[in-house]
Amino acid sequence: MVIHALLAVTLAMTSLPAQAKTVDCARVKCLALTFDDGPGVTTPTLLKTLDKAGAKATFFLVGKQVELRQKVARQALAQGHAIGNHTYSHASLTPLPDGQILDELKTTQSAIQQATGLRPKMFRPPYGDTDDRVLGLAGEAGLAQVMWTGTTLDWQLRDTKKIKAAVLRLAKRNGVILMHDTVPATVKAMPEILKELKKRGYHLVTVPTLLRGKRLQAGVSYP
Ligand SMILES: [Zn+2]
Repeated sequence: MVIHALLAVTLAMTSLPAQAKTVDCARVKCLALTFDDGPGVTTPTLLKTLDKAGAKATFFLVGKQVELRQKVARQALAQGHAIGNHTYSHASLTPLPDGQILDELKTTQSAIQQATGLRPKMFRPPYGDTDDRVLGLAGEAGLAQVMWTGTTLDWQLRDTKKIKAAVLRLAKRNGVILMHDTVPATVKAMPEILKELKKRGYHLVTVPTLLRGKRLQAGVSYP
């Protein structure tokens, strides 16, 4: 029995996404694609595309969207993607009083935990709107802040060719690219984008994989 249990554990470990063990961003060229505002109608298509390409990404989820699409959130996690908190109502946080900011963060933590079993360790402020007070409150909620090195403005471009060009222009080693899985053109452009990024030698990893060795700390801003 014990031997069987051990075998089962070993097998379970070896069947983990290969990247979790093998991609070392200190040695290879890594890039983190991040998708905000979901889970949305187009998220399942994106998940299929990422899976097919063997790419991992990071999703910053909106609490009320998670309540609408719990299964999609669960699927993202099951496929080895990382999940972060993007507030409950996609509110701009800096004008809000402390209590409301904490509420936005904590309600989303609960929604994500309820849907996926995971309590996120990172959050991204909507509109990139943040300050020291928001960061401090995020720390209280046990969350690290994750920003980006390049934003595609995909919600404005809404054109597959332009979005692809923006990602390729912004891609750099250890970069963090901001996109939206709720923008249909982004999801549509993704097969081509992934193909080109891989051709250029990028390993597409989650934010925690990218930051491995630094460890995400609550109340600290990355990258
Ligand atoms: Zn957003």
